[in-house]
Amino acid sequence: MMTPAATALGIHLRVLVEDAASSAAQVVVDAPVGAASDADAIRRLVEGADALTFEHEHVPNDLLDRLAADGVAVRPGAHALVHAQDKAVMRRRLGELGVPCPAWAAVATPDELTDFLAGTGGVGVVKTTRGGYDGKGVRVVRAAADVADWLAAAADGTGAALIVEEKVPFTRELAVLVARRPGGEVRTWPVVESVQRDGVCAEVVAPAPDLHPATRDAALDIAVRVAEGLDVTGVLAVELFEVADEDGGAPRVLVNELAMRPHNSGHWTIDGAVTSQFEQHLRAVLDLPLGDTAPRATWTVMANVLGSALDDPTDAVAQVAASDPAAKVHLYGKEVRPGRKLGHVNVSGDDLADVRARAAAATALLRGEPDPTGEADPA
Ligand code: ADP
Repeated sequence: MMTPAATALGIHLRVLVEDAASSAAQVVVDAPVGAASDADAIRRLVEGADALTFEHEHVPNDLLDRLAADGVAVRPGAHALVHAQDKAVMRRRLGELGVPCPAWAAVATPDELTDFLAGTGGVGVVKTTRGGYDGKGVRVVRAAADVADWLAAAADGTGAALIVEEKVPFTRELAVLVARRPGGEVRTWPVVESVQRDGVCAEVVAPAPDLHPATRDAALDIAVRVAEGLDVTGVLAVELFEVADEDGGAPRVLVNELAMRPHNSGHWTIDGAVTSQFEQHLRAVLDLPLGDTAPRATWTVMANVLGSALDDPTDAVAQVAASDPAAKVHLYGKEVRPGRKLGHVNVSGDDLADVRARAAAATALLRGEPDPTGEADPA
């Protein structure tokens, strides 16, 4: 999704792909194959490049440090990226920065976990510090026995270390996307609401509906403080929990997660903002002036295509095009698997209920379900 922006700006992208059939390899001409842990492949990749950046966090930091020492512009740097790789490091540092987070503790033994649960009403959320995504590596627990397997794996070194957090009684999940240049220029997009189903983002509404202005300002302020405090370069997504205020004041926000790259919560910007997160990430890591982040419409809804009954969701593109000519389809060229993120649809407009319904109808067609509006062209 960075390719169209790179092409327009005359930027040559070279991408290290794990598989010649991967989404990126289908659209990037210069796409050598190699593992993200392959030092030689990464050294060849950065030859002659102005900057090195990432589309996921699973990269070897010691190598990134060595490349930076050799003069490669690694953005974000390993010292920042570690906060998106390790949840314990992230929680500790955000605490030092005074950024509001759920109560948490590192836990290595069943007794430590039992003690924590005793202080949080008997329930908590255990997370692997590394390697989790889309809710894998997150488990709601009421007793240490619920994560006996993870505790054992952490203890014998075959699994990641663990943290436990209070189970936050959030009213909804919000996200803020922010971009930062090496010299410090920072821009945020409007705060969005992200709707999760089964631990996976299903829908994003931009901007977040009915957001209290004080909550909005707090969320934006947190995102900028995190970007600056961690010395992030490029795009940073800050996932937040919105929590009702017991005294009837503005809802509060707590940080759940960080991602240091273009993120699913920002896919709406491709069609819904003056500058997309992908263009902005390129600008930021190349130290170019950042683009305008203003929305192009009152509302933009992004709906993910999660799995499909079709062999190939492209078979339904004509139907979507016929039933909703303004819906923007983005497919990733991935093989269909149950629940897999195969693409997304962006719809913009002035009436939120209508925009949401249209995004849902388009994704339903791409998932091979009957069009709920009944308006699809049968051809
Ligand atoms: P991942 O790294 O897999 O994206 P997250 O830490 O974002 O994992 O957690 C996935 C989902 O689990 C969140 O979107 C949220 O719905 C729920 N969750 C995570 N942490 C908590 C918490 N402390 N309290 C309540 N729900 C949580």
